[in-house]
Amino acid sequence: MMFNLILFGPPGSGKGTQSEKIITKYGLRHLSTGDMLRAEISEQSRLGMEAKKFMDKGQLVPDEVVIGMIGNVLNNNKNAKGFLFDGFPRTAAQANALDELLNENNQSIAVMLALQVSEAELVKRLLKRGETSGRSDDNNEQVILARIKEYHNKTAAVADYYQKHDKVVMVKGEGSVEDIFNALCLEIDKKKEIF
Ligand code: ADP
Repeated sequence: MMFNLILFGPPGSGKGTQSEKIITKYGLRHLSTGDMLRAEISEQSRLGMEAKKFMDKGQLVPDEVVIGMIGNVLNNNKNAKGFLFDGFPRTAAQANALDELLNENNQSIAVMLALQVSEAELVKRLLKRGETSGRSDDNNEQVILARIKEYHNKTAAVADYYQKHDKVVMVKGEGSVEDIFNALCLEIDKKKEIF
C-alpha cells in the first residue's frame, strides 16, 4: 500500500521547502506540478510554451494539462512507496481526477496537510523569493496578487473536498522551517501508524 500525501497551501506557504525535507525523511516521491511545468518551459516544449502564457499572468494552467502530466507519472511509478503531491490538486476537477487515477490502482490519499499563513506574510515571502529565484511570477506584485486570487477562487475549495472525507489537518505555516517541519512530521507519523 502506498502512503500518499498532499501538501496544501497558498503560493508562498512553504510547500516546496517542506516537501524537500519530507520526501528525504519518508522516502516519498515528490510530485510538484509547478516544477514539472517549469521543466517543460526550460525545454521549450509545446506544453511548456502553452503553460507559460497562463503562469506569467498568475493564472492556473488548464486542468487537462496538469492532469495529463500527473497521470503519466503515476502510471510510470507503480512501485513507488508513496507520493507527496505539492501544488496539485489545485481545482475540484483535479481532485476528482486524482481520486480516479489512484482508485484505478487501489490507492488513495492518506492525508492533506494544509499550511496556514497570513496573506501579508505570503506577499512578503514571494517578493523576497523573487529577488533570487529567477521566477518571473515572483517579482511582480500584480502577478503575486493574481495567484493568491486564483487560490481563493479555485484552489481553496480543494480543502473542502478532502475535508468531507475527513482527511485535512491544518498546520501553522509561520515560524522557523524546523518547527514547521516538526509539526508536519508529527501529523504524518500519526497517520502512518494507522495506515
Ligand atoms: P506557487 O505555489 O508559489 O504558486 P507553483 O510552482 O506551485 O508555485 O506554481 C506556479 C504556477 O504554475 C502557478 O501559478 C500556475 O500557473 C501553475 N500551476 C502549478 N500547478 C498547477 C496546477 N495543479 N494546476 C494549474 N496550474 C498549476
